[in-house]
Amino acid sequence: MIDQPAVWLEALPMPALLCGRDGFARGINRTGRDAFVWDARAPLDRQSWRVLLFGFGQALVEAVQQVAAGSLPQGELEVEGPGSRRYLCRVVPVGEAVLVSASDITAEQATRDALEALRREYHTLWAVQPARVLVADARGQVHSALDDADRSASPDNEADTLRRRWEQEAPHDPVHHQPIEWLETPAMRALGGQQVHGQRLEVRRPEGRRVVEAHAAPMRDADGRVSGVVVVEWDVTELARLELRVQEQAREAAALQARAASTSDSIERLVEERSQALLASQEEQVRERRLAAVGQLAAGVMHDVNNALNPIMAAAYLLRHHAESPEAVRDYADRIRKAAEIGAATASRVGRFIRQEPVHAGGDEVIDLSALADEVVDLTEPMRLRRTSEADEVRVERQLGADVQTRGLPGEIREALLNLVQNAIDAMPNGGTLTLRTAIDGNEVCIAVRDTGVGMTEEVRERAFDPFFSTKGAGGTGLGLAEVYGIARRHRGSAAITSVPGRGTEVLLRFPRWRERSGTPTPSQPLEPALPQRILVVEDHDDGRDFLRRILEADGHAVTVAASVREGEAALEAAGPPFDLLLTDVGLPDGSGWSLVKTARARFPDLRVGVITGWEPQVGTSEAQAVEFVLRKPLRAAELKSHIAAPLRRDTTSET
Ligand code: ADP
Ligand code: MG
Repeated sequence: MIDQPAVWLEALPMPALLCGRDGFARGINRTGRDAFVWDARAPLDRQSWRVLLFGFGQALVEAVQQVAAGSLPQGELEVEGPGSRRYLCRVVPVGEAVLVSASDITAEQATRDALEALRREYHTLWAVQPARVLVADARGQVHSALDDADRSASPDNEADTLRRRWEQEAPHDPVHHQPIEWLETPAMRALGGQQVHGQRLEVRRPEGRRVVEAHAAPMRDADGRVSGVVVVEWDVTELARLELRVQEQAREAAALQARAASTSDSIERLVEERSQALLASQEEQVRERRLAAVGQLAAGVMHDVNNALNPIMAAAYLLRHHAESPEAVRDYADRIRKAAEIGAATASRVGRFIRQEPVHAGGDEVIDLSALADEVVDLTEPMRLRRTSEADEVRVERQLGADVQTRGLPGEIREALLNLVQNAIDAMPNGGTLTLRTAIDGNEVCIAVRDTGVGMTEEVRERAFDPFFSTKGAGGTGLGLAEVYGIARRHRGSAAITSVPGRGTEVLLRFPRWRERSGTPTPSQPLEPALPQRILVVEDHDDGRDFLRRILEADGHAVTVAASVREGEAALEAAGPPFDLLLTDVGLPDGSGWSLVKTARARFPDLRVGVITGWEPQVGTSEAQAVEFVLRKPLRAAELKSHIAAPLRRDTTSET
């Protein structure tokens, strides 16, 4: 019994001692001999196991006693043995004896102590850092976890392993959203000996998906072997979100910048191209418009003049054949006059575009714009009444002020207003309101014609005053507003258009204001039959000169004729009693009629002078102001007679 145990005792890997119930040792193995202090010279069964186990402390001795006495079935306890090593001792009954084994757990205990110390340290750290700290051993068992949930160390929990946490948290790479393999987790990399710095993971947590930044480091034992791992995880969800937003914004900003750059580039290019194209087309347009205007003007004039000449030629031919019949002669004479008047009207239409000078101060009248507006409304009534249905009605509104007066040619201003009203009515095919407004504005008076019609685009508005510009196709001549403009300018005034497409148009004319002064002469004097006068006619055109002489002689005047400036001067000098009136053409072969006027005036201050011109009268010039009247060809006999019959006119004019 004693020898036998020696065999199986020797098979035990740790120190082992067999104690008899009599208090003496019965057997011991070789490692036991090294561990337990005993005297090799004394026989084993003479040695007390109390003495042998002395080095392991009283607690072990008592445990053996209790098991030997049967009061404890078996015992297990950790004790400090010889050499300050720690042992895990087991006490079990074996037949009549008690077996004591002692495993050296010094290293194990050291690791556990170290872990515990670390845990305490991290716990302290945890108290101030918003991180999660994990401490696990080499097998992946989590020994300590400091979690967000309660900010306290969780108690050791057998089920808490790195692997389980990996399964629960399903970490992903937050950039590429790829799952992180088990062996690629920070803890496992650290257990493999690496230091892990700031690995970003997206993990599943009770509060939702979070992004953490993990740091992991291996713990090593005295021999340098990896015995555990510490993992620290920082929650950087907000940071990551911010970073992402910053990146996005940076990307957006970059994209915007790129787009802005390319847009401004293309805008610049576009503007340049457009402005070049515009410049080119503007120049071209101006040229083309001028050409077209001149062409149309010429064509129109040619057409009208031919139309006028036609009946004149026919009448002249017929006159020769029916010269004996006074009725036929009178009839043809009338036809010729009518045709000539049509021709003259054509010429004056051309003239209105050429003339830009103000109207002759002497040939004008005081005009009351309000009265004229009334007149124009009446005149255009038939035009407005052509509208049939109630819905198409054009209502007229008058906002007319008192004493809105200017000076000028009433016929011209009336014509301008008629043109404007015509345009306004054209612009309101479905009816609307036509407003005529007059007002005094400081030293000016104005009259406006407004409609609630279709309005004009900016392009149309810009070109509306151009002669022959029309959007009305065959229905328009494009001359209306051009005439309005010319008339306004000739009256030292202005014309302006305001228009909103779809809303309506207003054309505003401004003129210098005329104020009544004291001693105003009676506006017109009754025509007295002209007293016979001595008249010098200077005209190079034979027919013209001859006709003029005959007309004047028919009224009883004494007429002398001359064909040039020189002849005219000679006639003036040669005259016995001085002439009453000099009537001269402007374009003479040896100079201008105006120079003749000048010398005549200097020589005979009381001589009355009338100028006849085929060109537009040079009204407004000092020369023109200095003569009694200016007449335009073709001469109307009645007009000429009225001037000759008004010998006081010059005096009354000069008084005003
Ligand atoms: P016409 O009337 O023969 O076309 P105008 O010189 O009178 O010629 O007018 C030139 C153009 O200006 C018209 O064709 C039209 O497009 C525009 N216009 C003139 N008056 C008006 C208006 N009251 N409302 C809208 N457009 C107008
Ligand atoms: Mg018109």
